[in-house]
Amino acid sequence: MLRPDHNRVDPKRRNNVDHRKRQFAEPAYKENEYPHSLNFYETPPTADITLEQFEQWAIDRLRILAELEACSFRNKTPTETAAHMKPLLEKYLPLNSNTSSSSKLFSERQKDHYSHFILRLAFARTEDLRRRFSRVETMLFRLRLTEYAGLRDRNDFIRSLNFDWEPVTEEERNKYYSELLATSGAKKGEEESSWFKVDWGRVPDLVEGRKVFLKAGQAYVPSKELPSMIIAEFTQKLDRALELTARAMPRLDEDDRLTPILDHLSKNFVTPDASYSSSTSSVPGAEITARNVDALSSHFPLCMQHLHKSLRRDAHLKHYGRLQYILFLKGIGLNLEECLIFWRTSFHKFTDDTFNKEYRYNVRHAYGDVGGDSNRRGGGYSPLSCQKILTEHPPGPGEAHGCPYRHFNLENLTALLQQTGISDRSVLQGVKEDKENQKFHMACNRYVFPYLAVSYYHARVYANMRHSVFEFVHKNELKRAKDEGVMTAAQLETIVHPNEYFKRSYLLKNMGKMNTNDDVKMEGF
Ligand code: SF4
Repeated sequence: MLRPDHNRVDPKRRNNVDHRKRQFAEPAYKENEYPHSLNFYETPPTADITLEQFEQWAIDRLRILAELEACSFRNKTPTETAAHMKPLLEKYLPLNSNTSSSSKLFSERQKDHYSHFILRLAFARTEDLRRRFSRVETMLFRLRLTEYAGLRDRNDFIRSLNFDWEPVTEEERNKYYSELLATSGAKKGEEESSWFKVDWGRVPDLVEGRKVFLKAGQAYVPSKELPSMIIAEFTQKLDRALELTARAMPRLDEDDRLTPILDHLSKNFVTPDASYSSSTSSVPGAEITARNVDALSSHFPLCMQHLHKSLRRDAHLKHYGRLQYILFLKGIGLNLEECLIFWRTSFHKFTDDTFNKEYRYNVRHAYGDVGGDSNRRGGGYSPLSCQKILTEHPPGPGEAHGCPYRHFNLENLTALLQQTGISDRSVLQGVKEDKENQKFHMACNRYVFPYLAVSYYHARVYANMRHSVFEFVHKNELKRAKDEGVMTAAQLETIVHPNEYFKRSYLLKNMGKMNTNDDVKMEGF
């Protein structure tokens, strides 16, 4: 796949490649053709490209995927996402249809094809990365299939897939007429012209949404749901392919050109929320002192409330718990001196001597007061984002760090929520569903600004939605914030950082005590 002039593999190693690794050492060259703009990525690329193209194409695709993931965190609708992504796709990953007059169809499709496979290599390493990659690649495919691909291109592509979907016969259609009509949502006289039968496991979204009639393990899918079926098929194939890639990964270690690039790519698959500047985190008017942390903790997200309660109960926290909580407290504006007082009084079972020897350094290090030069120059470490808390260092027995929405089982999570006063059944049910769908941010703090609902229809949609914990806890203040024009919908997009949760919660609950013109400016969101 790479040109020989860029080959830096030790020739001795290359000559001794194990016979089982030959597919890697000597790829069979096959010219790729791209008859459609859409691609199921079933055939790996084998033609030559330069190392520069290898890296640049992957970075361009990564930009698109990260942006798509950010749209999902921010709870953008499909229409908003399509509008947001259009210029970015045109810039980084254009894909014109056959009907366009573009002379670059081949190169655009080649870049799309290669960049997908390069990132597949980079993100096949861990289950977490595979899941994220599959999710965002599916989002990209869905966007292209439903929003951007021309009708003719789309139909040609669907025909080319040759799926073994069995058309429902006229006889069967008459036999199950009322059931088919009921599940497709069509009215009498405007029924679907055709249905297909597939194994029900291949269309989980449609089954969950009760949009298909089920009989003997088969789902009867109306033709209007074809895109859903194709997207489900895309995801299943990609998931399987990622598993296979993961198994083949050790063979890649043979190639010392690619491994560093792939490592770098996977480490850079961070969401835009990953950095948090504490300069934007100060909360005007709040008394952020050691003795006030107990009172402030009612504004903390569940992860930090759990750490705070564990600290109060045990007078101790283990290493990662301390790190997560120290950085959070630093982020809300607790200065070093107050933070040392807070931890010293909290660890009251320890002598001064033990505290000074074993724990004081931790706190000072997190603030950049001691430690390496770069740490000191940068003012210590940044508070951890949700993404970091969700994906790094899962808690073990006796540890209280992490994100309860992800790391607790449902029973313990429900009990914890109830302890914090959340017992509304619809909120708990919403949390359960979000957890099952691995939408942990959503469970915690998804915010849909109901009071911007401009029509009866929007109000109805909102009334039928399940609310997140943040929405539930702040429902009265959110209404007031809108009524008084204190916050815009953009400021209330999904929170993806515990410190943002705190800041927004504190400001909402203290609106009345502040000068809303100056203070409640939530820059940084
Ligand atoms: Fe904390 Fe983020 Fe989890 Fe909410 S989603 S509990 S803020 S880590």
